[in-house]
Amino acid sequence: MAQLYFYYSAMNAGKSTSLLQSSYNYNERGMRALIFTAEIDTRFAQGKVVSRIGLSADALLFSPQTNMAEVIKKENNNQKVHCVLIDECQFLTKQQVEQLCDIVDNVDIPVLCYGLRTDFSGELFSGSQYLLAWSDKLVELKTVCWCGRKAGRVLRIGSDGIPVYEGAQVDIGGNEKYISVCRKHYMEAINKAKLMANGQLPKVPFHFN
Ligand SMILES: [Zn+2]
Repeated sequence: MAQLYFYYSAMNAGKSTSLLQSSYNYNERGMRALIFTAEIDTRFAQGKVVSRIGLSADALLFSPQTNMAEVIKKENNNQKVHCVLIDECQFLTKQQVEQLCDIVDNVDIPVLCYGLRTDFSGELFSGSQYLLAWSDKLVELKTVCWCGRKAGRVLRIGSDGIPVYEGAQVDIGGNEKYISVCRKHYMEAINKAKLMANGQLPKVPFHFN
């Protein structure tokens, strides 16, 4: 029986590397893995999953309008699909997670989703919300804060070097960078950024060692 998997983490925990490793394992056995990534991810060329250690693979793009079940069934009719791998799965809609459940349960293809659990303000992404709720297997890919604790939170750092605590969940084309930190250092950074915004502390860029 196929299952729905959610591999989740903060930023930079090697999600894409892990996805590409799974794809390689399927290909090595002569099996076909169908890879998707979000249209929103503009870090690299569109239609590719690229890991920080230099591996890459071609991918189909999904937007909120993509009917995942329809695309996967069509691909499977052309040539048997043994596994579906989805990068940036936090951007899936509720309906798309339902469609992936349909693929797992009724077409019997395993679906492995890789993505972030929460955004920079600590809120769940829509895709992550329903994957946490409905997946058969939840797997946390761990990364560490500079202090050595598990990093479960993501800080958005503005172009001025100061953490951002308000704004849109996805900032397309922004100059922000993201840093994974533990909950304690997330809260410390946000509280300090608020004091800076109120003028109670001088505005100086943060340094994360
Ligand atoms: Zn920490």
